[in-house]
Amino acid sequence: MRYELMLPHQISRAIAENWPVALPLGVLEYHGEHMAVGMDTLAVIKTLELFEKEKDVVILPPFYYGAASYAVAPPEGSGSVQVGGNALAPFGEDFYSLLRIGFRNIHAIIHHQTENFVAGMPTDLAFKAAGRQAIFRFLEKERGEGWWGSQAMADYYSGHAAGENFFNWVQVHPLMSADMNGKYPFDHAGIGETSLMLALCPEAVDANHFADNTGWYTASAKDASAELGQKGVAMIMDHLRMILRP
Ligand SMILES: [Zn+2]
Repeated sequence: MRYELMLPHQISRAIAENWPVALPLGVLEYHGEHMAVGMDTLAVIKTLELFEKEKDVVILPPFYYGAASYAVAPPEGSGSVQVGGNALAPFGEDFYSLLRIGFRNIHAIIHHQTENFVAGMPTDLAFKAAGRQAIFRFLEKERGEGWWGSQAMADYYSGHAAGENFFNWVQVHPLMSADMNGKYPFDHAGIGETSLMLALCPEAVDANHFADNTGWYTASAKDASAELGQKGVAMIMDHLRMILRP
């Protein structure tokens, strides 16, 4: 369900049943002359909407204002919006007050700059750090200082082994899992991303403008197809089924 449409009794049910809560996390960034600036975020939103047809999930309103960077193009006339990671971290920490609502199964999902996800990039690192900070702050407020050292926590490591861990309450994932590497073209505004948009959100692509592209990274875009995009979508859906579970 879309969070902004939920009533309190529906939110209570989602909490009681531990539904995954998904935040489409993204940017607004120049994606060539042929594609919309919201591509990275739209890819997350549209695949989550497909996932929602299969499984219970809360979809939060998307956050588009991540650290696009001006690495691809300067903003003038290109459309990239850059909010730095240092500004995002405190925002993210307060944003995860979702914990106070009662959610314990929160997942930010990002497509932008995820080719080296383990090391991280500014947007995902900011939201990861914010998640950790928010969990510490929440636990300390709920349980007081010394909560971890108290006798009530004596089974912490055994519970941990069984998969219980406070720090799993908030997670950040790439939209495309590492094992899609080599199976689907990973690029910026090339054949891979353009095909994904043709499959998920065709109004975000205008084939009349392929010829206006001058960047190396858009050279393959004209070979994009919805058929190829569907293959990527199928792999992404498998990944979402893995990470978004009650
Ligand atoms: Zn992109």
